[in-house]
Amino acid sequence: TPPTGTLRIDRLQVTYSRAVQALRGVSLEVRAGEITAVLGSNGAGKSTLLRALSGTLALHRGVVDSGGVTLDGAPLTGDPARAVAAGMVQVPEGRRVFADLTVEENLRAGGLALGGRARRAAQERVFELLPVLAERRRQAAGLMSGGEQQMLALGRALMAGPKVLLLDEPSLGLAPMMVERIAGIVQRINAAGTTVLLVEQNAAVALRISHRASVLENGLVRLTGSAEELAGNDEVRRLYLGAG
Ligand code: ATP
Repeated sequence: TPPTGTLRIDRLQVTYSRAVQALRGVSLEVRAGEITAVLGSNGAGKSTLLRALSGTLALHRGVVDSGGVTLDGAPLTGDPARAVAAGMVQVPEGRRVFADLTVEENLRAGGLALGGRARRAAQERVFELLPVLAERRRQAAGLMSGGEQQMLALGRALMAGPKVLLLDEPSLGLAPMMVERIAGIVQRINAAGTTVLLVEQNAAVALRISHRASVLENGLVRLTGSAEELAGNDEVRRLYLGAG
């Protein structure tokens, strides 16, 4: 079966309560089966874009003024439960695992919509992809390292069997070796058939593992292209890859 999870974002405009226009007409396409990265510095609008997709804008007093989003052609309404039901699951920045629950209980929380048998099957798939979670299944999540908690957050999101994973800064605050491990895991998740939208400030890692990328600046898409094109772009090299 061909991959699913084509996300089309069409001229999206988002404003916050104090009349801050955070997205000023953003269009981008996340192709099914690919990893698409969105790069941008602080305040560019990356979190706002993810909130608009996952339907959590209202929690931040944000509204979509115009434009829209479709997943495999079907419009998404900006309702969090519907986004998940449609197959789009977000891994929030800062992991946000349940610290006092065990690894297994956290995973169960990601598969609440499933019946017992389907949930056990989903958990086995997650354990295959992330064996460290199987080893730690009875450990309290709060006692794991930041990188392990990021793995758990990924595993929990995978429990729902998403078509599209939205990743918010998965490398944030992690040691370089752990950043590499997480990057490898994201690639494996994608290779296993999940479409990924990756929002990252670490442009070097993001461009290395993604197929395509866009640069967001000031609420607008400045550049879009293949990851190779962007990695070779002078401006991207200077502003986001720290080249002289
Ligand atoms: P960061 O990496 O720092 O999170 P970002 O690229 O994710 O940056 P956003 O957080 O989406 O950027 O912010 C885009 C713009 O919207 C900024 O000008 C920011 O100050 C503003 N903004 C974000 N959240 C709110 C909010 N809840 N209310 C008002 N303005 C907001």
